[in-house]
Amino acid sequence: MIERNATSSGFGGLRRNLARAKRLFQLIAIAVSYYTGVLWAYTWLALRGKAVVLTYHRVLPSELQRNSFSSNAIVVTPETFELHLRFIRRFLRPITPAEFTRKISSGEPFESRTCLVTFDDAWYDNMEYALPLLKKYGVPAVLFVPTDFPGGERYFWYDRLNRLLFYAWQHRGMADEVFDRLGARNVLSMDERGARAAIRSVVSNLRHSSEAAVDQTINELQAALKRARPELCLQGEDYFLTWSQLATLSKSEVFYIGSHAVTHTPMTEIDLDTVSEELVRSKLEIQQRLGLEPALFAYPNGNVNAHIADRVRDAGYAVAFTTEVGFVSERCSPWQLKRINMFEYAASSRRNLLARIAGLN
Ligand SMILES: [Zn+2]
Repeated sequence: MIERNATSSGFGGLRRNLARAKRLFQLIAIAVSYYTGVLWAYTWLALRGKAVVLTYHRVLPSELQRNSFSSNAIVVTPETFELHLRFIRRFLRPITPAEFTRKISSGEPFESRTCLVTFDDAWYDNMEYALPLLKKYGVPAVLFVPTDFPGGERYFWYDRLNRLLFYAWQHRGMADEVFDRLGARNVLSMDERGARAAIRSVVSNLRHSSEAAVDQTINELQAALKRARPELCLQGEDYFLTWSQLATLSKSEVFYIGSHAVTHTPMTEIDLDTVSEELVRSKLEIQQRLGLEPALFAYPNGNVNAHIADRVRDAGYAVAFTTEVGFVSERCSPWQLKRINMFEYAASSRRNLLARIAGLN
């Protein structure tokens, strides 16, 4: 059962208040440094002779986010994305992935405030909402594709499970036994807001379960829902581009295609031979499907170590990106490049965007 223990909820309240106070202080510091010009000066100094690589995942209008179970940490609205592109056009120097790769490979210094835009996972909305804006502002980007994902039903299991449990909550009586088995029957009597939060916590607890147990729950829910409501679209807003859409994107002269491995399994969780196999297989598949050789790679989840980075180099990729935060200079290792992740709550104003780039937000 999901119950709140009085002691932990007391500590939880204190923690929440402290977090709120910290966030408030942070926002005030950002505003003061922004309006006095200190934040600008600091950021431009830090970006002297360096590039900043921005990570995006999804560009999804707020009204569609209701049907999405993606984490907030990977979504921006089209309005925020446009604000970012205007900022990049006005204050930074957008670079093509090819030119970025050439500079890193030849050890040539970057012009100050160079900016490379990257997208991970190949979500469907990248074509619908990101592409027109990238075109409008003439900003190139690289799209990292996990080659098992396009066109398939394979999205991250926790998004899928979140959605299926939510649908089962919406259509109570269809799969109540799954809630029983998960020890979460009380979710069925909650209102929507409470149910969404409780389901997230149920799914989060399942992260410690075996893959087989998770698969069993997903299959059971899917079968029950399909049986009861065959017309239900189980994918919501969370699905990926197809190979034919990727072919269109790769010809757009806006999106370059890079590899994000095959299965999106963090590479520190598989043995090195499997790492190499994923690296070679995803490269081959992109070559065969799209007729281009991907030179750029992004580590699933950002997980990497020196041995894995060597495998990426040996597989013939010229550069590879982690999720570690920082800037890029010609002195960085080409196979462990840092980036800055962008999402709505961290960067929905110009002020917060600048602070995010500076590493303060
Ligand atoms: Zn990813």
